[in-house]
Amino acid sequence: MVGMLMLIDAASLWYRAYYGLPSSIKAPDGRRAGAVRGFFDGLAVLARKYSPTGMVCCLEGNWRPQWRLDLMPGYKADRALADGSEDAPEGLDEQVAAIEALLPALGVTTATHPEYEADDVIATLAARTAEPVLVVTGDRDLFQLVDDERERKVVYLARGISKAELFDGEAVATKFGVDPRHYVDFAVLRGDPSDGLPGVKGVGAKTAVTLVNTYGGIAGLKAAAAEDGSDLPERHRKAINEAADYLDRAVKVSTAVSDVPVPTADATLPGLPKDRAKVEALAEEWGVASALKRFNEAIIAQEA
Ligand code: MN
Ligand code: MN
Repeated sequence: MVGMLMLIDAASLWYRAYYGLPSSIKAPDGRRAGAVRGFFDGLAVLARKYSPTGMVCCLEGNWRPQWRLDLMPGYKADRALADGSEDAPEGLDEQVAAIEALLPALGVTTATHPEYEADDVIATLAARTAEPVLVVTGDRDLFQLVDDERERKVVYLARGISKAELFDGEAVATKFGVDPRHYVDFAVLRGDPSDGLPGVKGVGAKTAVTLVNTYGGIAGLKAAAAEDGSDLPERHRKAINEAADYLDRAVKVSTAVSDVPVPTADATLPGLPKDRAKVEALAEEWGVASALKRFNEAIIAQEA
């Protein structure tokens, strides 16, 4: 039987859970608990729907690594607080701490690195396996990993966990107009305000698609811009040449690193909780015992 590794962008999942569930869901002590409950219910739904044989929750070791900031000082600037931390909505941080404590107690493998984003850890674990991979994320950057030949797909959470959409190469091409291997080129040319990528002057989404597909991504576009007698329209040639430095930096910033030095992760699906006492204590503290039970049942159903 061919296995399937599910790589979870954990932060995407808890953000969707936080916004997708009513704020009236509370822990016994009155703190908001929707993100904790929704996170584990979401994992259960995903496990039942896609039947993975392995699972790793990839954590955001560094949401805005210094090396990316060195390349592009405005990277994710709109989402940063004065102290450099991410502007998180009310009551999310403590729920994240609970989720991060519950995962190992439940026996779910996690992977993270203090100098890299979850994007990079996911790309690394995907690069290390020959098995089909399903990446669960709400981060558009990860469309760059979609690869039909190697059976890499993305479950995109933008519209919520229950409305998750499965993207293969054709679905990426249909939504964005470019092949997944050119997704980064497309995003860099068009720009991505939520990540602080300004894009190239005068190039909107439609032009970005045409340029990428006509010239073969940014590498081909730069070659065409440098070549006398290429058919690249003069206004684009000028814009591409003027943006040469931006293009080089933005491609590096936007390309997920696939050789992060994270230890080999044992992706085996968890069985019964590894640390039952801890799971029970946290379940009681957060009022999430039934969500954790649903999660366990969904995982064990996959193993049967
Ligand atoms: Mn990300
Ligand atoms: Mn990203």
